[in-house]
Amino acid sequence: MTFDVVVIGAGPAGALAARETSRHGLSTLLVDKASFPRFKVCGCCLNDQASALLGRVGLGSLPIDSGGIALEKLSLFQDERRVDLPISGGVSLSRETLDHLLVEKAKEAGATFRSSCRAEILSRDPGEDRHRAIGLHVGKEETKVRASIVLVADGLGGATLSNLDEVEVRVNSQSRIGAGIVTEISAGEIEKGQIFMACGADGYVGAVRLEEKVAGRPRIALAAALDRDAVRRVGSPGRLGSRILEASGFSGATDLSELNWIGTPTLTRGPGHPGAHRILAFGDAAGYVEPFTGQGMEWAMTSAVEVASFAREIIARGGGWNGLEVREWESRLKKTVRRRQVLCRGVSKLLRSPRLLRGAIQILSLGRGQFSWSRPILGLVGWQGNLPGKKRN
Ligand SMILES: Cc1cc2nc3c(=O)[nH]c(=O)nc-3n(C[C@H](O)[C@H](O)[C@H](O)COP(=O)(O)OP(=O)(O)OC[C@H]3O[C@@H](n4cnc5c(N)ncnc54)[C@H](O)[C@@H]3O)c2cc1C
Repeated sequence: MTFDVVVIGAGPAGALAARETSRHGLSTLLVDKASFPRFKVCGCCLNDQASALLGRVGLGSLPIDSGGIALEKLSLFQDERRVDLPISGGVSLSRETLDHLLVEKAKEAGATFRSSCRAEILSRDPGEDRHRAIGLHVGKEETKVRASIVLVADGLGGATLSNLDEVEVRVNSQSRIGAGIVTEISAGEIEKGQIFMACGADGYVGAVRLEEKVAGRPRIALAAALDRDAVRRVGSPGRLGSRILEASGFSGATDLSELNWIGTPTLTRGPGHPGAHRILAFGDAAGYVEPFTGQGMEWAMTSAVEVASFAREIIARGGGWNGLEVREWESRLKKTVRRRQVLCRGVSKLLRSPRLLRGAIQILSLGRGQFSWSRPILGLVGWQGNLPGKKRN
């Protein structure tokens, strides 16, 4: 079968891109190797800008209508220091729910979706210039489809690009790893609408309340970025994560230490160029920094809307591929997402120095009356900071 677009990966990037290409009238196949709905290691916080982007594509009410919790407070902890920053415009929602809903929206728009289906881009066939072939694996069955454009959104751990000779993927050697879990254990420790962020020398752990699956039984998402050596020393991501929480005064931390936290590959990674012949990468697959600022989903969805519109332009001008498309895509990514990732990279570096972090917490806690330093700083990383004591709905 031949499609205008095949999208690999149905996280926020892939699902939203498939919805947008379908809405642009392009025949679209969306595939994911996982069986949906599925868990994903994530802090599960959509920031103010992610909510605004969903609003711009007509899905603004989706997170709250699905039980998402409006975020009101960011509590930062480092040892005995604590600062509470009022925030608004963000929502916490489990990835199980959010990603499933976005896939449903893609299907409603006309995309074909196949879950439990691993995709692999096949080597370039010099005799076939108008399409790229993709192998689809479901259990032991293998089929082949073709696409004018392959959109790769297979996330941090995806190997679609690194399996191709055409693309080189770079990993920062100092990179931390991610780990996370959704649990009911110790969920009562976190207030509804609060982001609890514990920072330590070996990493940081965020916790947030999620929509309830069973009424009256609160759940939390725990998500961490951890030093690989420290995880090895301590024995497991769960033990290190709970130690960092404990140092910040989180009283239920020991109950979390032996849970089976799921790990991720190294966080700071990406391909040299975001694509190859008839392939464009976006979302985490195009490069990822670190999750502290909670911007990953916003970047993923922003790049999804942009790549869908670029794919429409390519098909509208006849579907030809002259080799300059990857460069053009790289420059569009730079304008929409990568410039802001530079700032996040700076914040991630700062987090590795306890002294600088202490200073940053002190600056964030400064502010009286009509001004607080936290507002412009939060604004830079996509969060709506409120004046102390004021709430914006
Ligand atoms: C610890 C941690 C905490 C985070 N906290 C936040 C937060 O609070 N807020 C925020 O905005 N961001 C956060 N992020 C970042 C966020 O999770 C990612 O930026 C976001 O998920 C990227 O979306 P994506 O669609 O690009 O990739 P993903 O969501 O990773 O989706 C990729 C999909 O591709 C599929 N796939 C992979 N390979 C194949 C294949 N060969 N064939 C078919 N399917 C395939 C996978 O199954 C997966 O479903 C966090 C990340 C980490 C690690």
